[in-house]
Amino acid sequence: MNIKTAEILCVGTELLLGDIVNTNAAYLARALASMGISVYHQAVVGDNPERLREAMETGLSRADLVITSGGLGPTCDDLTKETAAACFGRKLVCHEPSLAYIEGFFARRGKEMTPNNRKQAMMPEGAYVLANPHGTAPGVAIEEDGRGVMILLPGPPRELIPMVENEVRPFLAARTDCVLLSRNLHLFGIGESALEDILRERMEASVNPTLAPYCADGEVRLRITARGKDEAEAAALCDGEEKFLRSSPVAPYIYGVDVGSIEAALVPLLAERGLTLATAESCTGGLIAKRLTDVPGASAVFPGGVVSYANEVKAKVLGVDPDTLAAHGAVSEPVAMQMARGVRLATGADIGISTTGIAGPGGGTPEKPVGTVWLGISTPEGERARLLSLDPRADRKYIRTCAASHALYGVLALLQGIELS
Ligand code: ATP
Ligand code: MG
Repeated sequence: MNIKTAEILCVGTELLLGDIVNTNAAYLARALASMGISVYHQAVVGDNPERLREAMETGLSRADLVITSGGLGPTCDDLTKETAAACFGRKLVCHEPSLAYIEGFFARRGKEMTPNNRKQAMMPEGAYVLANPHGTAPGVAIEEDGRGVMILLPGPPRELIPMVENEVRPFLAARTDCVLLSRNLHLFGIGESALEDILRERMEASVNPTLAPYCADGEVRLRITARGKDEAEAAALCDGEEKFLRSSPVAPYIYGVDVGSIEAALVPLLAERGLTLATAESCTGGLIAKRLTDVPGASAVFPGGVVSYANEVKAKVLGVDPDTLAAHGAVSEPVAMQMARGVRLATGADIGISTTGIAGPGGGTPEKPVGTVWLGISTPEGERARLLSLDPRADRKYIRTCAASHALYGVLALLQGIELS
């Protein structure tokens, strides 16, 4: 199947009444254009099975692809899937993995699953199921030689957009005759909103290549996706966009391209320089060691670490001065530096790093609120420490993950010659 044309069909009486703005249509039009698929018609229909069926048939008769948004939910006015199945003369059958996922979705939130939610796991026979990590209704793709392809997406943009980016793009890339290439720039130390402020116009105007941000646990990824008639053309477009970003205000935060994570960038760099790194962790409890050893080849650069949670371990194993501990407390600049130095000397590593902080939810004081973390780094040239003041309202997991990321990034920055503020 070679898809060249598409029709966008948005379902919902709310749209017809003007109660909500049809942002999905605009987003889908741009996404399809970026994939080299031409859109000649768009339509909006209410939650009415006859008119929806008619719009679907019309779309299939004049385009290779009909892509719908809305009406995939659990309630009785959600009838897009039923109507599409009827259009292709297919029965709805239970898709067990989706049912298990939906049950899990409710269980994880401690909520009772009502029987109508089972409806969301019913799929037209032979359809492709598109995962929805942000909601309960999976998406659906139906393909039939001679008729075309129909893709059904959920209405809420926070579910629809990730589904298009992660599921629909690869599905369609395999069904168009152009080449899609993605490149991920990894950034650290810049927040999602600051990034959006700087790049909003560029992202909104981007068609080919497209530029989209992904954020998780304090880290940001910028994905460049380009379409070309062959790999070389797509790569050249990615190069152009990367060059633009490297001369923009976000440039200082870029630490790698398609590297996966800070630790995945750091381990090979340490190996390349012939350096070893040891860890002394208090509030991160071994998270840094875990992340380093997640990377294949870590043994060449990571001799080991100490989880020094109690003061006695900081003193006895790492040689932190008990007087310093008594005078400044465990969460302090001199203790972070002594921990880093202690683990470097104990393991014979070239670099030692440490974390000592208050991950919460308890244990905070006015002087040292939850989220206060000291990060130490020790090399033969000496010791330094940096203070992180993370959001005291953040949860324990976030604070620990962020502290570990900052500690790892500190080493990467040192090796890359980046000045940390
Ligand atoms: P749900 O499971 O939430 O019912 P659904 O797939 O059935 O999802 P709808 O019921 O049609 O989708 O719409 C749910 C919500 O998604 C709407 O109230 C609206 O906020 C948003 N939405 C739906 N369609 C669009 C659209 N075309 N553009 C922007 N937002 C939309
Ligand atoms: Mg609905």
